[in-house]
Amino acid sequence: MAEIRDTVILGSGCAGLTAAIYTGRAGLKPLVLEGHEPGGQLSITTLVENFPGWPEGIQGPELIENMKKQAQRFGAEFQLAHLSSVEVGKHPIRLDTSIGEVLTRTLIVASGASARWLGLPSEQALIGHGVSSCATCDGFFFRGKEIAVVGGGDSAMEEALFLTRFATKVTLLHRRANFRASKIMLERAIAHPNIELRTNTVVEEVLGVEEKEVRGLRLRDVKTEMTEELPVSGLFLGIGHEPNATMFAGQIDLDEEGYIRTSNNVFATRQGSVVPGVYACGDVQDRRYRQAITAAGSGCMAALEAEKFLEEHNH
Ligand code: NAP
Repeated sequence: MAEIRDTVILGSGCAGLTAAIYTGRAGLKPLVLEGHEPGGQLSITTLVENFPGWPEGIQGPELIENMKKQAQRFGAEFQLAHLSSVEVGKHPIRLDTSIGEVLTRTLIVASGASARWLGLPSEQALIGHGVSSCATCDGFFFRGKEIAVVGGGDSAMEEALFLTRFATKVTLLHRRANFRASKIMLERAIAHPNIELRTNTVVEEVLGVEEKEVRGLRLRDVKTEMTEELPVSGLFLGIGHEPNATMFAGQIDLDEEGYIRTSNNVFATRQGSVVPGVYACGDVQDRRYRQAITAAGSGCMAALEAEKFLEEHNH
C-alpha cells in the first residue's frame, strides 16, 4: 500500500508555494508537484512592484525562489511530475502522475494558468524560431532587432516595455480600439519612444515558415479590411492565459472558460456540493483578480482549510 500523504499541492507558483509554507509550518509535510512551468507565471516575469513588503520592487523569479526556500525550511517536498488523472470522489484521493500513483487525504490545486496563443498554424510552426510567449525568457535574442507584441492588457504592456531593453522598435498590436491595461502601464507604453501602439489590428499570418525564422507579419486592419506586411524578427504574445484544469473535468466543477469553480473562496465543488478535502487557489480558480498577492492569499486560505479538515478527521 502506497504511503498516504496528508497534503499534496499541485503547482509551485505563488498560490502553491504559500499553501506549502502554511501546511509545512503546520507539520503536514506537504508534497508539492511541480508541473511543466515550475514557479508559475512569476518565474517568467520581471520586476514585481506591487507585492507588499518590497518598496523598490522585487524580481519575480527571486520572489518565487524565496517562497520555495521558505516552504522547504518547513519541510515541504518538491517533485517534478505531471498529473494525468485524478479521482477525488473517494478517500484517500488518488492522483495518477508521471512519478506513479500518489494518495493523499487533502489536495490543494494551485495549477495556475498558461499563456494563450493566437492559434495560427504559422505562429505554431515558428514557436522558438521568433515566436514566443515569454519576453523575459526570449527577449535577449532580439537585441538590435524590430519586434511586435500582441495584446491590450497589462501583460502586453509589460512585455513591450521589457523588450525595449533589447529591440530597437516594438510595435504593439491590439485587436480593438480600447485597451484593457491599467492606466499606469498604458501611459508608460505610450510615453516610450521605441514603442508604437497600433489598434484595430490583427495578425493574419506570421511570415517566415519556409525559412524557419520569423521575417514579418501579415496584418489586417479590422476597420478598413486593408492588409499589410510588417517586417519584424520576433512576435511575442501577451494575450492572457488559459487555466490548467482540464484534467479535473468531470471530477470537480469548472466554469464555461475552464476555471475551477470554488465555494467560499477555496472549496472545490462537484455538481455544486463541496468535495471534502479538495481546495483550489490562485489563477486556476481566479479569473477576476489574478494578482500575485491574491494568489498568495488564496493559497493561505486553502492551506488553513486543509489543516482544519485533517484536524476534524483526527489526522
Ligand atoms: P488580459 O487582461 O485578459 O488581457 C488580454 C489581452 O489580450 C486583451 O487585450 C485581449 O483583447 C487580448 N487577446 C486575447 N485573446 C486574443 C486573441 N486571440 N487575439 C488578439 N488579442 C487577444 O490578460 P493579461 O494582460 O495577461 O492580464 C491578466 C491579469 O494580470 C490582469 O488582471 C492584469 O492586471 C494582471 N497583470 C498585471 C501586471 C502588472 O501589474 N505589472 C502585469 C501583467 C498582468 P480584448 O481586450 O479585445 O479582449
